[in-house]
Amino acid sequence: DHSETISVQACIDYALRLFHTRLRDDLVHVEQRWPDETLWVKGDLVRLEQVLVNLISNALQAMKQTTTPQLTLSAQANNQEVVICVTDNGPGIPAHLLEQVFEPFFTTKAPGSGLGLGLSISSRIMDDLGGRLQATNLSTGGACFTITLPLAASPR
Ligand code: ADP
Ligand code: MG
Repeated sequence: DHSETISVQACIDYALRLFHTRLRDDLVHVEQRWPDETLWVKGDLVRLEQVLVNLISNALQAMKQTTTPQLTLSAQANNQEVVICVTDNGPGIPAHLLEQVFEPFFTTKAPGSGLGLGLSISSRIMDDLGGRLQATNLSTGGACFTITLPLAASPR
């Protein structure tokens, strides 16, 4: 059991840092929105980071044809839960596929460029952490993935 009390903001920062070069090369505008006070959750930092990496990776792939790509990461507390959103301004997800994207091996990517496992694994990880992962589309276009996790007390 790797359960520890982790900072949501630090976790998002670690995940974003891995994409630093790609975000710069693709001229992606990154917006980060969260409160000053640390949002704590219980879990395994590496696994939450893995989920964020999967979502950011999908967002970047979805925005390949977007003229002014924008990635937004936000986190907020709401009713004893932490809500983390990863949104992009790509084409979004066809409404009839909003559930199916979480199925193992579901992919719309060319053979060899996507195994279709990222979201099913991410959704399993969220279940294990006592949370959930949901997909929606923004009214302005683009996809929005929402992670919800129980809020934990500050470790100190
Ligand atoms: P893969 O990335 O290997 O295709 P995933 O499980 O990560 O597998 O994603 C499954 C599918 O969900 C993708 O092939 C794509 O059709 C859709 N999808 C995921 N993220 C996005 C997004 N940000 N915008 C649009 N479609 C998405
Ligand atoms: Mg993927």
